[in-house]
Amino acid sequence: MNPTPDARTSRPSGWRGRVAFHALGCKANQEEMECLTSRLVESGFEVVPFGEVADWTFVNTCTVTSAADSDSRQWVRRAAKAKEAGGTLVVTGCMAQRDPAALAGIDGVDWVVGNAEKPNLHGWVTGAQSLPATMAFEGRDSCTRVLVGDEPTLRGFAEYGHAIDGRRTRATLKVQDGCDEHCTFCVIPKVRGRSRSRPLAECREQARVLVESGYHEIALTGINTALWGRDFAAPSDLSELLTGLLEVEGLERIRLNSLEPQYVTDEWLDLLASSSRFCRHLHLPLQSGSDRVLKRMNRRYRTEDYRRVVEEAVRRMPDLAVGADVMIGFPGETEDEFGEMVSYLSSLPLAYLHVFTYSPRPDTSSLQMGEPIDTETRKSRSRELRRLSDQFRRRHAERSLDSLQTVIPEGATEDGWQGLTGNYLRVSFPWTETESPGTQVREVNIVGFDERGRVRGRLVS
Ligand code: SF4
Repeated sequence: MNPTPDARTSRPSGWRGRVAFHALGCKANQEEMECLTSRLVESGFEVVPFGEVADWTFVNTCTVTSAADSDSRQWVRRAAKAKEAGGTLVVTGCMAQRDPAALAGIDGVDWVVGNAEKPNLHGWVTGAQSLPATMAFEGRDSCTRVLVGDEPTLRGFAEYGHAIDGRRTRATLKVQDGCDEHCTFCVIPKVRGRSRSRPLAECREQARVLVESGYHEIALTGINTALWGRDFAAPSDLSELLTGLLEVEGLERIRLNSLEPQYVTDEWLDLLASSSRFCRHLHLPLQSGSDRVLKRMNRRYRTEDYRRVVEEAVRRMPDLAVGADVMIGFPGETEDEFGEMVSYLSSLPLAYLHVFTYSPRPDTSSLQMGEPIDTETRKSRSRELRRLSDQFRRRHAERSLDSLQTVIPEGATEDGWQGLTGNYLRVSFPWTETESPGTQVREVNIVGFDERGRVRGRLVS
């Protein structure tokens, strides 16, 4: 709802102030911040670019690697520098949960808020909810107020609402939070708690609101989305969510984000293959192509299980893009184990890799697992996997030649427009008309690609 303008100030009546925000890390973190901002806009706040003078500035931090910690600190310092006297700088998210003292110690930070407390921010900022006593302690404005529980002990899914920012053609919908796995390198379960799922009715209602707001595609996000429904009093699973979303009228494309491979069943794959409204795109985190390393990581599948899932998925949906996260430099990763990973990956019909470097995280058991891998070795292994990923991308483009794919136009390029196909190709296509091609789902014929993997298409509808 847009407030009506006030003629004296040229500000809308009901204007409550300016907000700026930045979220680091995963899509779930981004989505939470966008939901908070959307709700603040609905309550009369105006969004300004990060770094500009704002009454409230929010930084949603990430702690998945030591580089994410360092980026989070940098963004907080940037916000602190830009903060005008009287503005309030709020730092929240996974690093705030893990190490509040490190962020509270940065000059200019006003509030440090944990993950369990984050959903209350809208109420605290608008005044609809009073600040807890610990936040309002002594009424001193110069102190950083820290509200971070020891554990993110939320029970049930914390509602953030929905994110409508008008900048994107693809909405994200968070359907799950937390994780019950205990991968030995991962700090996330400690900062986000156990798996909690958004109830089906709420997912459908939010999807309906997003479609009504003009989005044609919704990407489902979560920390471990494959766990959706398992925490309900009457346990359910992802197929119920997917079937329920297919009933949302006007929702033309549904994209799944990362799914832990050990949970992917043939029934899920049959369901995905049964409707062209599911994007032909699956991201299945692998982490290592060596069973010995997978065991040390405490991943709950082995390479043959992963192969079976990928091959079954591609057998059902031949133009599917399957992507994998892979981690290099896990403690003790030998030359042989890395070699096994390269030949294993080369034998799979993958479309791309996301290559990560192991990062030692506090309170994770991998810290006690063998020697760290030296920097040069990590760099050269990473380069090798990135080269492999480039080959996979070209192969995926080549396999898609002459096929018809759905695309949602996203923006103009030098010689046309571009968008993301259902099967995860960023395709550009000629467009000479002065009017934009719109943001509805169109069909594009894939006609070529170049050495750098840039894909060309021709709109056919
Ligand atoms: S599945 Fe493993 S890597 Fe992923 S969030 Fe859970 S513990 Fe972390």
